[in-house]
Amino acid sequence: MSFYSTLLQETAHRAILMREGKQKAMAELRFLEKSQYWPQQHLLDYQWQRLSALLTHAYETTTYYRRVMDECGMPPTAFKSFEDLERLPLLTRDAINDNREKIISSRFSKDELVEFGSGGTTQRRLMLYRDKPGSTIKMAMQWRFEGFMGQRMADKMSVFWPPHVDFGHAHARRTDFKDRYLLRNQLFYTGGATAETLRRFYDEFMAFKPSYLKCFPSGLVAFTEFALDNKLPLPQVKGIMSTGEMLLPDMRTLFEESYQAPVIDMYGSREVGNTSCECLKHEGHHIAQEIAVVEFIKDGRPVGTDEDGEIIVTDLANYGFPMIRYQLGDMGRPKDGTCSCGRTLKLMSAGIGRLSDRYVALDGSRHSGLVIAVQVTETGPPMGKMQIIQKTVTDWHVKVVDDPPVTQEMREHITRCIKQFVGEAISVTIEEVSEIPPEKSGKLRFFKCEIED
Ligand SMILES: [Zn+2]
Repeated sequence: MSFYSTLLQETAHRAILMREGKQKAMAELRFLEKSQYWPQQHLLDYQWQRLSALLTHAYETTTYYRRVMDECGMPPTAFKSFEDLERLPLLTRDAINDNREKIISSRFSKDELVEFGSGGTTQRRLMLYRDKPGSTIKMAMQWRFEGFMGQRMADKMSVFWPPHVDFGHAHARRTDFKDRYLLRNQLFYTGGATAETLRRFYDEFMAFKPSYLKCFPSGLVAFTEFALDNKLPLPQVKGIMSTGEMLLPDMRTLFEESYQAPVIDMYGSREVGNTSCECLKHEGHHIAQEIAVVEFIKDGRPVGTDEDGEIIVTDLANYGFPMIRYQLGDMGRPKDGTCSCGRTLKLMSAGIGRLSDRYVALDGSRHSGLVIAVQVTETGPPMGKMQIIQKTVTDWHVKVVDDPPVTQEMREHITRCIKQFVGEAISVTIEEVSEIPPEKSGKLRFFKCEIED
């Protein structure tokens, strides 16, 4: 790219940002690019300051947190260390639904807040708020993470996004003018895309010539496999960011090989934003410590290094609707040590899945269902897409797409793999289907457990 075109793009981009009042996000980004290299103790001090301020704010301006902290005998002044957070109850989806108005800070009027929804596969829809300064810093955090793969603001990016909720009607069909020409982003709604749609996406994609890709992996898999099946050449790009759902090893390989580019995984949620991201060294996900306190717990206690725990996030950048100890329903692992990229941010492993991604073993313990899905797909005969569903502890159903047709060998392989993990005392029913529809959220689930806790 020539200097001139870079300058032109930067100028156009900044003009839009200024008009939308987002120049503040640029200042936040400059800060975040420095803070990620601070000594860890400096980061912890900064994080502690922000946590203390948030606890005080929540206590003083929300009836919900005042009641909760009083009930626990933990007014803001009683917090002396991060560990003291454990004395507060978790903020569950039910707690939010039951106390929504009481969580809104009295320091904000509703028109100063952005209302947004978070879906769920089995739960009712959750409505939340975020304050505008918080939205700004979250945008900057996203840019910082995109920078992990070398991406700069002016670089062109194609986005493969299945969740319908993120697209207005204007977006559902094709890329919006502003996104395409000024924000340097090209958006493809891949949820339920047909061969005809994918063909049109392919032409638009090739004409756009992106440097970077961002995707829900299932969305980019659909697009990439379509191109490969139809012998359509794919261009080399500089980096690919995967987010929103589990990035399986075979998907990572498919992307790396098809676009000859490194792939990084970002872990985030609608509720609290992007929480951690891999860098090109792949030594773990760097935690966004400046805006989040992340805990990993099991049975109410913190887990040790490299142990699976439930991810609990305290959002340090939402004063309008404080989210303290929010239970995301995802699993992760804390990691020790620092990354060889030089960034000092703490590390975690993400992508272990949601609780419902874990199967219930015969002894009642829960384990990763994804591991079974990987075992089934990476060994044995090549098979079409599949979804493994645990209905009861001993009743397992597997849907397999009939392309290629399901053979006896495949059936035996699937049954053998599942029994290998779970035991012989289960029944496995295999159903041949023409397609597996994604969940309402747009996510494709490879494994789901329908047993409630
Ligand atoms: Zn790193």
